Amino acid sequence: MSVLIFLDHADGHVRKASLEAASYGAAIAKVSGTDAEAVILGTVSEDLTLLGKYGIKKIHTVSNASLNQLDAQLYTKVIADVVTATGANVIIFSNNLVGKAVAPRLSVRLKAGLVTGAVALPDLSSGFVVKKNVFSGKAFANVSINTPVKIISLNPNSFSITTGEGVAAVSELNVTVDAPKVTVTATNKVEGEVPLTEAEIVVSGGRGLKGPENWALVTDLAKALGAATACSRPVADIHWRPHHEHVGQTGIAIAPNLYIAIGISGAIQHLAGVNRSKTIVVINKDPEAPFFKAADYGIVGDAFEVVPKITEAVKKLKGI
Ligand SMILES: Cc1cc2nc3c(=O)[nH]c(=O)nc-3n(C[C@H](O)[C@H](O)[C@H](O)COP(=O)(O)OP(=O)(O)OC[C@H]3O[C@@H](n4cnc5c(N)ncnc54)[C@H](O)[C@@H]3O)c2cc1C
Repeated sequence: MSVLIFLDHADGHVRKASLEAASYGAAIAKVSGTDAEAVILGTVSEDLTLLGKYGIKKIHTVSNASLNQLDAQLYTKVIADVVTATGANVIIFSNNLVGKAVAPRLSVRLKAGLVTGAVALPDLSSGFVVKKNVFSGKAFANVSINTPVKIISLNPNSFSITTGEGVAAVSELNVTVDAPKVTVTATNKVEGEVPLTEAEIVVSGGRGLKGPENWALVTDLAKALGAATACSRPVADIHWRPHHEHVGQTGIAIAPNLYIAIGISGAIQHLAGVNRSKTIVVINKDPEAPFFKAADYGIVGDAFEVVPKITEAVKKLKGI
C-alpha cells in the first residue's frame, strides 16, 4: 500500500483540514508498513519540510502558478499524473471544498473506489472498510473499497492532528499543467473572521434573536471565545446574516469542538449540519425546544439575559 495525501492551502499556508488528512494518511501508512507521501499544488509560502512532523515522509510539489486557484478539472488531471508517477494506491483528501470538487472526478478518472466523508481510520482486518456518516449524520455506514486504487475524503474535525518528530523531503515533480479552462476574475474574502469550516468553536444565532440589531449578542460572545459565527437558515434568508454563515442540511455542515446555539429551535434540517459537533450547548427560552434533545448542555432562559452574562464570564476568565 502506498499513501498519497492531497494538501490544500490558502494563501500559501496549509489548511488545518489538510493537516488532519495528513495525520490520517500517516496513520494508515503506519499500520500498512509504508511511508506517507503528499502532494501540494501551486505556490506555497511555508516551509514544507516542517510538515514531516505530521508523519509525511515526502512532499511532491507542482508549483505552477496556474494551480494557485482551484480549477477542479486541472487539479484532477495533475493529481492523476502525480498518482501515476508515485504509484500511490490510497489517496486521501479532506472532505472540504477542494476535496468535494476533486476527489469524485479523480475517482472516475482512475476508476478508483471513493468514500466521501470518512470519520475513522479504515478497518484493514478484512479488506479495506471505511466508516462514514450517512443520513445527515444520523447513522454510520461501513463501506468496503475493492478497487486497486482507493480514495478517501476525511470529514473535517473527525480525526485529531498528531505531531511528532520528522522532516519531510520536498521535491518538485515534473508534470504537464494544461492551460486552465476557468479564469478567476475576482476573489472577495471575508477578512478578520475565523473561517466557519475550520473553527474549533462556533456561536450560532436563530430567529429567537428577533432581529439583526441584536446580533452583537452572538458576535460579542464569539469574539470573547475566539469563535466563528453561524446562523439558522431563516436568519440568512431574511438577510439578518450573510448566507455563508447558514449551517444545516442546505447550508454548511460543520463539526466544531463546541457549538453554541442561541435562539435556534433545533429543526432536523438545522441539526443535519451541526450534529457532528463534539459538544453542543443550547440556549433557548422554550424548555420543549427540540434542540435540547441533541444538546450536551442546555440553558432554559432568555438569550437576552443569559448570553451577556456568559460573555462577561468568558472575558473575566480570559482577562480581556
Ligand atoms: C428543505 C428544507 C431545508 C432546510 N434547511 C435548513 C438548514 O440548512 N438550516 C436551518 O437552520 N434550517 C433549515 N430549514 C429550516 C428549518 O426547518 C427551520 O425552519 C429553521 O431551522 C428554524 O430556524 P430557527 O430555529 O432560527 O427559528 P425558529 O424555528 O423560529 O426558532 C426560534 C427559537 O428561538 C427560541 N427563542 C425565541 N425567543 C428567545 C429568546 N429570547 N431567548 C432564547 N430563545 C428564544 C424559540 O423558543 C425557538 O425555539 C430547512 C427547511 C426545509 C424545509
